[in-house]
Amino acid sequence: MAEKVALDAGHGGRDYGAVYDGRREKDDNLRLAQDVGALLKEKGLDVVYTRTSDVYRTPYERAMTANNEGADYFVSLHRNAFPEPNQASGAEAFVYEDDGVKGEIAKAITDNLETVGFVNRGVQERPNLVVLKRTGMPAVLIQVGYIDSEADNQLFEQNYEDVVQAIVEGILNSIVSEEPYYKVQVGVFRVEANARRLLEELAGEGFPAYIVYEDGYYKVFVGAYPEMQEAVDMEKLLRDNGYTTMLVRK
Ligand SMILES: [Zn+2]
Repeated sequence: MAEKVALDAGHGGRDYGAVYDGRREKDDNLRLAQDVGALLKEKGLDVVYTRTSDVYRTPYERAMTANNEGADYFVSLHRNAFPEPNQASGAEAFVYEDDGVKGEIAKAITDNLETVGFVNRGVQERPNLVVLKRTGMPAVLIQVGYIDSEADNQLFEQNYEDVVQAIVEGILNSIVSEEPYYKVQVGVFRVEANARRLLEELAGEGFPAYIVYEDGYYKVFVGAYPEMQEAVDMEKLLRDNGYTTMLVRK
């Protein structure tokens, strides 16, 4: 069974979130949640949403949706704001407590967003946020830059696909399954660009590929399967398509 991620697009309906120059946080959050969700599904994960349209849900309802759906992880997407426009910028992540897999996901996403160009404001503990406190699974809230920062909005728009990818890879690379699982390694690189090239080639052929940065190398994997036979079948398909593969048990 694939891991299930609950995606929470912050605010909605009568709650606009932060607003700057006609731009509404609730719209940015929803767009992000939908695109992050689509990419996670492409990578083979299950996704549930706390909202898929412009409606208001209380923080408690959002947490309950994730709990009732049996989500394994909860990721809330927001954009930040400062009392004075263009005074603050950068990405940061909130967690109930900075430990375990939630801390790892939070750090991985903010590090990835720094690579995209955002100032890295790091991981902060926010034990009073309902969506972090009432969710029964590792939960993180990501502030994807400041909506009242021209520079951050420019990054958000011009590198939008990289922003989505930064969040998705931060989740994927941090997820630890309690059961052993099998994945197919297709390439190991010192240079990230080379790993990305292989990733794009594989994705273009429809393989659920992703990159994990491990021990100083960028490793390209395909799939993550609880049953060894599924991984073996995927390995055969990859080899038939001309790839060199190695089965990895995690
Ligand atoms: Zn917000």
